[in-house]
Amino acid sequence: MSRKRSESKSSQPGLLTEIQTPIRTDGLDSHYHITSDELGRGKFAVVKKCVEKSTGKEYAAKFLKKRRRGRDCRVEIVHEVAVLESARWNSRVVNLHEVFETEHEIVLVLEYAAGGEIFDHCASEEALTERQITRLLRQTLEGVHLLHQNNLVHLDLKPQNILLTSLSPLGDIKIVDFGLSRRLGAGSELREITGTPEYVAPEILNYEPITTATDMWSVGVIAYMLVTGESPFAGNDKQETYLNVSQVNVEYCKEAFAGVSELAVDFIRKLLVKSAEDRPSAADCLSHPWLWQGAWGSDSDPPLSQPPRERSAGKWGPPIPLGNPEDKENILEESPSLPKRFRFDSLAGESVL
Ligand code: ADP
Ligand code: MG
Repeated sequence: MSRKRSESKSSQPGLLTEIQTPIRTDGLDSHYHITSDELGRGKFAVVKKCVEKSTGKEYAAKFLKKRRRGRDCRVEIVHEVAVLESARWNSRVVNLHEVFETEHEIVLVLEYAAGGEIFDHCASEEALTERQITRLLRQTLEGVHLLHQNNLVHLDLKPQNILLTSLSPLGDIKIVDFGLSRRLGAGSELREITGTPEYVAPEILNYEPITTATDMWSVGVIAYMLVTGESPFAGNDKQETYLNVSQVNVEYCKEAFAGVSELAVDFIRKLLVKSAEDRPSAADCLSHPWLWQGAWGSDSDPPLSQPPRERSAGKWGPPIPLGNPEDKENILEESPSLPKRFRFDSLAGESVL
């Protein structure tokens, strides 16, 4: 009825092969009503809303083709399952409910993120407020931080792969799509040409080693898009986009950043740097004052997350009351319990607009 754990070894670096979830072969249709509501579609996957017959609960079923371009890709799908399993404790990652297999497909039954992609908010006329954006980014960084602590890199972070639990009120984020993710370490160095041109870091294009900093570049691109509604490196064609990325050809022009705080630009600027070693980590980012500006106070929602007390330990400390959140000096000097910053302590004095 179901197949368990006996997955073949993979020769590809960074792929996980061990899974705990039983792969059911007793028919998705007998347990779920698959609706015609298509939630999304990629090259090799289609995602549909479904309802579990026994509970009436809604889920998202991701149908993955086992053969792609004439090649058997079951190992890669098993890896995606394994990564979702290992991130089960990470509440910012979508939960995996069940797995089914048919002759040509493997179907991941996932927690349903009813609020859609944060991409819709980048492209929308009705822009999010800076406070909403920083809340979503804090949550994204929490998720990424936990993945990185586990030596996992996502490698396809983009606004289409960051979903929301609800739209109105604006819910919490869920990171999806671990198809390109990899485990770091484990002997061999990881270099791959992977990802989506607009969002990939220069080291990917240069076939240089992949590290957790590769994801941090993408976080910078996502932050830029949420704030401005524009894609910072998108060119007229792929070639132009690649060139823009590898030359870090990014504009912080007045029009796009009108009304955006200087701290936001500081945050983005520090992530979109060519040298991967110079990019702040997810934990570093979580201590950037922009993300906590106006995060609490009389007129704001209580923060869902809190800054790490110690950056490296990744512990989330209690909220630190800010004096005047607009006043950077106050934040840095009058909050002794704020973690020490190394990359963010020199807030750009120059006007960045
Ligand atoms: P692909 O590998 O094809 O990009 P994804 O896992 O990113 O597949 O899914 C494609 C799209 O389907 C996502 O961008 C999103 O719009 C939608 N989607 C994926 N998972 C869910 C989910 N759990 N809940 C709601 N929508 C989802
Ligand atoms: Mg995707």
